[in-house]
Amino acid sequence: MTRHTPPPPALGCRHAPILKERGQHEVFCGLTGIIWLHRKMQDAFFLVVGSRTCAHLLQSAAGVMIFAEPRFGTAILEESDLAGLADAHEELEREVDRLLARRGDIRQLFLVGSCPSEVIKLDLARAAERLSARHAPRVRVLNYSGSGIETTFTEGEDACLAAMVPTLPDSDARQLMVVGALPDVAEDQALDLLAQIGIDKITVLPARHADTEVSVGPNTSFALTQAFLGGTHAALERRGARHIPAPFPFGEEGTTAWLRAVARDFGIDQAHVDAVIDAPRARARKAVAKAAETLSGKSLFFFPDSQMEIPLARFLTRECGMEAVEVGAPYIHKALVGPDLDLLADGPVISEGQDVELQLDRCRAAQPDLTVCGLGLANPLEAEGLCTKWAIELVFTPVHFYEQAGDLASLFARPMRRHNLLKLEAAE
Ligand code: SF4
Repeated sequence: MTRHTPPPPALGCRHAPILKERGQHEVFCGLTGIIWLHRKMQDAFFLVVGSRTCAHLLQSAAGVMIFAEPRFGTAILEESDLAGLADAHEELEREVDRLLARRGDIRQLFLVGSCPSEVIKLDLARAAERLSARHAPRVRVLNYSGSGIETTFTEGEDACLAAMVPTLPDSDARQLMVVGALPDVAEDQALDLLAQIGIDKITVLPARHADTEVSVGPNTSFALTQAFLGGTHAALERRGARHIPAPFPFGEEGTTAWLRAVARDFGIDQAHVDAVIDAPRARARKAVAKAAETLSGKSLFFFPDSQMEIPLARFLTRECGMEAVEVGAPYIHKALVGPDLDLLADGPVISEGQDVELQLDRCRAAQPDLTVCGLGLANPLEAEGLCTKWAIELVFTPVHFYEQAGDLASLFARPMRRHNLLKLEAAE
């Protein structure tokens, strides 16, 4: 049976009190973003300036790339660098020169800061400037921080895109910029729908190749596809571009609202938009309804991790019939997630930041049917009998827009089905 999304709630969560926590938190650092960014930007290289711990995190998060020349690596800071005995700036520049001499395919190089490079105050911005001047026009060198201090893993992408914004050429053209590193399949679907709706000039940040022109200016409107791009949002506004606020394109409802908001901004008639999206909307509803059979009526608890929690809670409660107990997010940026908060019915605890022990106590007391959390918390919670879903999977899997709506719901339904089977087996 196809489920229809309920009408918007009379009282959403935009003005609900927020439980702010500033204690110990359990998250991965922003280096993690390199894993999906290097796949997206096909002629970029990400050079982490960090320690062996950073190199280890990257290798284990990415799996070892044995058959391909990798597009990320670590310039290891040795003890002599950390103790200030060697000139780490000079060594880094030599390392970059060697890399670029060997790898003619690299067109963009990102120097990615880490906790160790920040502790010894390596000036990566200055290094990037010098290296850019030396290797222009073939290679552009930029820098951003993926450091783990007080961050969460999706901030790496935000910092990377925000670092690109000041380098974009000016444009007065009336255009749409779609912002966020989506898997190609989801991005292609979005671009196809937007073209059918009648948006002529569309650019994507980040582009797949360095020579694709991505420009910005006062006639650029931008639509975010990821809820964690607060820094990029601010950087684009500083360049004069205008944000189109909308729910994020998860599920049938989110995708429809996102497309309609973009169309409105470009003065396109909603009746035309609705005619274009009629068939994919129906397919999305049908696909979500199937997975929702497992999810409907079940309770849900989000630990803060990916910054996608609020849009996902909106999708899971409104399209899949779940009941949110707590929706925790590392940061709540209402300019970005406000439209999703409007649609999320008042009721769950909305928390920002983390004090992990207190939050674990609340989760144990609630005994939710599904807990969405980071890798570090999932195993202990599973051992206590709770069913969990790793939030990090959501950034690696195509989950945006209509054709992925069913897969998105299935990502949450699958652990619940497995959990139920294990419970049945244990009872026999
Ligand atoms: S938390 Fe800091 S030291 Fe650890 S891997 Fe991330 S950047 Fe490196």
